[in-house]
Amino acid sequence: MRDTFPVRPLGKNIGGYRGETIEIQKTLQEIERASAAANWTLDRVPGPVEILACRRTVPDPRHRVYISTGIHGDEPAGPLAALQLLCENQWPNDAALWLCPCLNPSGFPLNRRENSAGIDLNRDYRHLQSAEVRTHVQWLEHQPDFDLTLCLHEDWESAGFYLYELNPNHGPSLANPMDRPQWPEALYLASQGKTPMSYTFEAPSDFPLPVRVAALAAAVRAALRLLRAAPAGGE
Ligand SMILES: [Zn+2]
Repeated sequence: MRDTFPVRPLGKNIGGYRGETIEIQKTLQEIERASAAANWTLDRVPGPVEILACRRTVPDPRHRVYISTGIHGDEPAGPLAALQLLCENQWPNDAALWLCPCLNPSGFPLNRRENSAGIDLNRDYRHLQSAEVRTHVQWLEHQPDFDLTLCLHEDWESAGFYLYELNPNHGPSLANPMDRPQWPEALYLASQGKTPMSYTFEAPSDFPLPVRVAALAAAVRAALRLLRAAPAGGE
């Protein structure tokens, strides 16, 4: 698919995200349908706030990949990118995947970063104050370790796409997670030894929504391609 998009920032996201919003429950229903059509398993993780998780199982997976998004309610491109990737259903044959398409269902109707109680869920993975993160962490504890974690985000202050890398086996960046009072999801996963490598992708939300969805989906595809090209195994 070759679409052409304007590549200039819109200049309208001043002091916060002012762009397109989505009806998250509708998007989640589409994700459920796409996930079923692709023969993924759907987990409705029960809790005060139900969390949706989709799983793709393959026999003897070579890689286990975890993808998460929708943790900030003013970042609609992530759940839409998850939907697009599920609809495309083009995954490496030998990769098992876990996908949480929306960790903050109460934030989206308010178009705000935090949940409806005002908690930034992506700073709550150390103290687990929110029902969403407690439910999510419980679910994560029952999943195997992942080879790769991809967290899909957006940033209204950014003029371009960027990423954060956590690579605790090779870098010093996690030397002292205990020094950080608030933990994002990616730091929690890395600090628990749940994933040796994680990337947080940030699409610039001062661009039109289709551009950001395309950018996040392309980043996931690229990461899966590179993972496939990497040497097998690991320790
Ligand atoms: Zn975010």
